[in-house]
Amino acid sequence: MTYDVINPATEKVIRTISLATQDDADAAIARAAKAFETWRDVTPADRGRLLRRFADAVDADLENLAALEVENAGHTIGNARWEAGNVRDVLTYYSAAPERLFGKQIPVAGGIDVTFQEPLGVVGVIVPWNFPMPIAGWGFAPALAAGNTVVLKPAELTPLTAIRLGELALEAGLPPGVFEVVPGKGTVVGNRFVTHSAVRKIVFTGSTTVGKQIMAGCADQVKRVTLELGGKSANIVFADADLEKAAAQAPYGVFDNAGQDCCARSRILVERSAYDRFLELLEPAVKNFKVGDPSDPATEMGPLISAGQREQVASYVENPAFQGTAPSGPGFWFPPTVLAPPSERAVREEIFGPVVAVIPFADEADALRIANDSEYGLSGSIWTCDVGRALRVSRGVEAGNLSVNSNSSVRYSTPFGGYKQSGLGRELGPDALAAFTETKNIFISTED
Ligand code: NAD
Repeated sequence: MTYDVINPATEKVIRTISLATQDDADAAIARAAKAFETWRDVTPADRGRLLRRFADAVDADLENLAALEVENAGHTIGNARWEAGNVRDVLTYYSAAPERLFGKQIPVAGGIDVTFQEPLGVVGVIVPWNFPMPIAGWGFAPALAAGNTVVLKPAELTPLTAIRLGELALEAGLPPGVFEVVPGKGTVVGNRFVTHSAVRKIVFTGSTTVGKQIMAGCADQVKRVTLELGGKSANIVFADADLEKAAAQAPYGVFDNAGQDCCARSRILVERSAYDRFLELLEPAVKNFKVGDPSDPATEMGPLISAGQREQVASYVENPAFQGTAPSGPGFWFPPTVLAPPSERAVREEIFGPVVAVIPFADEADALRIANDSEYGLSGSIWTCDVGRALRVSRGVEAGNLSVNSNSSVRYSTPFGGYKQSGLGRELGPDALAAFTETKNIFISTED
């Protein structure tokens, strides 16, 4: 069976690809399980060297990967270059890991006790359409570094860069079967990763609804699982902040990737005394946000991923306070939109589009109450010039990734993940490696 991959900026078919069947998924898992038998014993130095070569191959192909993502996902060329560069950087970062997967020597009576960090086997990585390259890399790079093999399922809408990454891995010299890319449906290929007993762990990024199904499916085999799910992050602006800067930066915190970003700061909470002034400053920043041809380096926001996504986003917009502009079509365009006051539904649900709710708060305690009144807890920002308040509020927000006077959420060397229904476990940084290993303890008697 085949299906058409669409350019969301033009609605034109860019490629027709084959949908993998369950048999194809089984065959890929079998190849990955076979490859694990030798990959796990490749010396740490050689495994690191191969991952560095893979990183170099991504770097050499960076412009091509970026252009593919502009075409397939409608990402701006600036973002797409960053995303391909992020895969290179994550691979480079974890290429140092095989030689640093230290165990422990633990003092015990009557002998010597040591621990080993052993790979799990085949790891299934299931990726959404919003950031196809980096999210795949955050799963496969540490998994491979720890000695696992990987089966990767890209989202149905955005398979092209994943397919290219699979080719680059082979060109870089990774043995066949170590990194298998299986484009197909979630309910077929993704589900097979969950139910197949040779797949020992699932790294899932996507919606909270599907994440819950995956977690329930994994329970059957007590399969390891990392979940990176939805978000409804708060951007908290205190009256003592640099309001000009906070208002100028706020659109980038939510409209980046057309708002299709799990870390989108889609609720802006503003201290009541600064609320009117903040909206006055925000309005020109939103109206001047450059929406259009994603291949133009000056463009700040491209189209939404699909007609369905645009319909879903539009359902949240009634009486906007103000909106930016967007091309009329073809393409799945939607203008940057500010809701003030927002509906209860727009405040609670992840819209996953360029729509932001602006909400006033009375004081610090009120800001924390509103920020934490969400089933999600992925990221957020605090804008203030008071360092004590910045730390107090950062500690008080129930979310995994906070930034102060900044929109930043992701760095490959620091942990990333959610509180509450935004996920389970952490990706990136040194600690993510542990999630791709089992700890084995061995006791050696020294008694006669
Ligand atoms: P989705 O949950 O619909 O799909 C994600 C992936 O899961 C796709 O590859 C899909 O094919 C697959 N899938 C669907 N049903 C499946 C099943 N029954 N079994 C196995 N696999 C299945 O999500 P989406 O619409 O592609 O992406 C948007 C969502 O992803 C948003 O909620 C967003 O917040 C979330 N997201 C989270 C993060 C994070 O790091 N926390 C990052 C990006 C996106």
